[in-house]
Amino acid sequence: MEQVIFAEDIVKRYGDVSAVDGISFSVQRGEIFGLLGPNGAGKTTTVRMLTGVISPSSGSISILGLDMPASANEIRKHIGVLPETANVYVDLTGQQNMALFGNLYGLKKDAITERSAQLLRKMNILEASNRLAKTYSKGMKQRLSLSMTLMTDGEVLFLDEPTSGLDAESAREIRGVISEMADEGRTILLTTHNMQEAQDLCSRVAVINRGKIAAIDTPVNLRRTFEERQSVVMQFAQPIPKERIQALAGVGEVFVTGPNVRCYTSDPGMVLTGLVELAEELGIKVISGSTETASLEDVFLELIRSKGERR
Ligand code: ATP
Repeated sequence: MEQVIFAEDIVKRYGDVSAVDGISFSVQRGEIFGLLGPNGAGKTTTVRMLTGVISPSSGSISILGLDMPASANEIRKHIGVLPETANVYVDLTGQQNMALFGNLYGLKKDAITERSAQLLRKMNILEASNRLAKTYSKGMKQRLSLSMTLMTDGEVLFLDEPTSGLDAESAREIRGVISEMADEGRTILLTTHNMQEAQDLCSRVAVINRGKIAAIDTPVNLRRTFEERQSVVMQFAQPIPKERIQALAGVGEVFVTGPNVRCYTSDPGMVLTGLVELAEELGIKVISGSTETASLEDVFLELIRSKGERR
């Protein structure tokens, strides 16, 4: 398989801070590859290095077999970039934004007219294309932004948080467009802090936090880690012996602080029932109970820990 995006041990330092601290991965042609991580993980910095906006402090990058940043100008002809902050000029119409972008990339006037109409129609904003972009909803602005990204018809796309801040319906629409773009044979790297989005779209995902990659895996395997880190949190009227809780079916790690209990599990329903029955048997009142899903940070820590255990 052809390697389209390749990053080896890339580092970006700002003074004492390593925004990206030795990241390596590769993306094959036709893949949708996700960089999944919480705020400040280093996703945007990675994308900016891959697209030649900034240079790495060390490490090497190649896109379509060309070295970045040495061949940045040649590479730019083949890629499309959706930056993290919207690149839409709100005092221009949708159409004018498209033309401006087309001009920037040296497209001919006819090509600009034809391609913008095609893309704006596809993104469902053709009818609004003569209105100023400041009258657009957030979802429409993002669809315009994606249309601008596609103006160059790039075979490799870098999409930085493409659905961030959108409502569920707009996010779903954008995901649909991203899938279509991959079906057309494009290679896509996207960043997200949304596990569900990574699962819906990506063939592989790199989980990134504090500038490092904790794991690169399929969303299905990563999902398993999420599920195992669900927890049931309960408060009882008085303490329950930890060993009795540990013996319940489906219970993983257990933390007991006085009458408060937290059990990690992949089956919160079963554990909740088990705990309620145990309390009943011991004649102890249940004060409160809830289940919590894993945060990205939880999963990241779990991945680091399991990696450490495997060593
Ligand atoms: P978000 O989801 O919030 O956009 P991110 O994963 O994209 O987060 P980055 O924007 O890449 O994260 O930032 C990674 C770290 O590097 C952060 O701690 C950030 O403050 C720091 N950083 C990024 N750019 C700079 C800069 N120009 N100067 C100093 N520090 C920076």
